[in-house]
Amino acid sequence: MRKRATVDNMICLGIESTAHTFGVGICDEKSRKKILSNVKAVYKPPLGFGIHPKEAAEHHKKNAVDVIKQSLSAAGLEMKDIDIIAVSQGPGLPPCLNVGMTVAKTLSMKYKKPLYGVNHCIAHIEIGRMTTGTRDPIFVYVSGGNTQIIGYAARRYRVFGETEDIAIGNARDLLARRLGLGNPGGPIIDEIAKKGKKYIELPYTVKGMDLSFTGIVTATLKKYNSGVRLEDLLYSFQETTFAMLVEVTERALAHTGKNELLLAGGVAASPRLQDMMKIMCKERGAKFKCVKKEYAGDCGANIAWTGILARKNKIKPLKMNEKIKQNWRTDEVRWTLKL
Ligand code: AMP
Ligand code: MG
Repeated sequence: MRKRATVDNMICLGIESTAHTFGVGICDEKSRKKILSNVKAVYKPPLGFGIHPKEAAEHHKKNAVDVIKQSLSAAGLEMKDIDIIAVSQGPGLPPCLNVGMTVAKTLSMKYKKPLYGVNHCIAHIEIGRMTTGTRDPIFVYVSGGNTQIIGYAARRYRVFGETEDIAIGNARDLLARRLGLGNPGGPIIDEIAKKGKKYIELPYTVKGMDLSFTGIVTATLKKYNSGVRLEDLLYSFQETTFAMLVEVTERALAHTGKNELLLAGGVAASPRLQDMMKIMCKERGAKFKCVKKEYAGDCGANIAWTGILARKNKIKPLKMNEKIKQNWRTDEVRWTLKL
């Protein structure tokens, strides 16, 4: 009997290390659940500080072997069962990316498995499409390091709108740190904002399809120092920044004529953002989907699944002299949506 083409039914081990997370996930194309394991170790900066790239990289080095072993064991597999390896090649923090790349190349050479370089942002989109059943959504990617409104057009994932300075997650965490509220700030802001009653005007900065968040962080801190009630301030900060995101997202849906919205990234866990996006979608008759928390943040399963798709896209395996791409944009990758 003829053997099935080897391009089908791959088992891929994916490695994520772009920022705070060292994650290893295993996906099997032929299994019904697709994701066999998803193990991660997350670097937490000391209270009052943001991510220190070199410390995060040290954390990843220390945890790499354990996370790989745990992921294999959770999937009930050994390295010999893995067909291909994928690594998050960028964008991200270079010291952190380099740890993932070194680990991935070592495994690839030792076990003689082809290695695929995966774009981190595309991995967020693809795991979202697979786990939610969306087909061709406008993708709102709101994390600690990224704020992008992405949609597929003319064979690439195109960025329709993005932040001109810091990411929304970074803005929320930074504000919470400056206010002495702890880290990560996102869930803390969610809770305190619920108790706000009075809307206080803050800078609403949308420029065309792009956004800016630094001015509003500074303005919020100034108002706090002038004695405005914390609950009202955080409520106003949250309503303003989320309204900015909803405005740009709605315009992306309107311009492209797409009728699905997919929300992902750590900030997607914020219930108020979900509600506001849901309302907007309902009003336009669009489908709203949010990536499950487990896969919404950085993780290895995202990379493993996208490694499988990279191979189907006929992307060539990495050569051992290829490097990380710290500023790699989604629209640099030629990609087929329907495979
Ligand atoms: P990521 O870079 O995708 O891991 O996202 C990090 C961002 O998500 C940070 O701004 C966190 O404060 C925020 N975040 C993490 N968990 C939650 C949560 N449960 N609710 C709201 N925001 C969260
Ligand atoms: Mg991410």
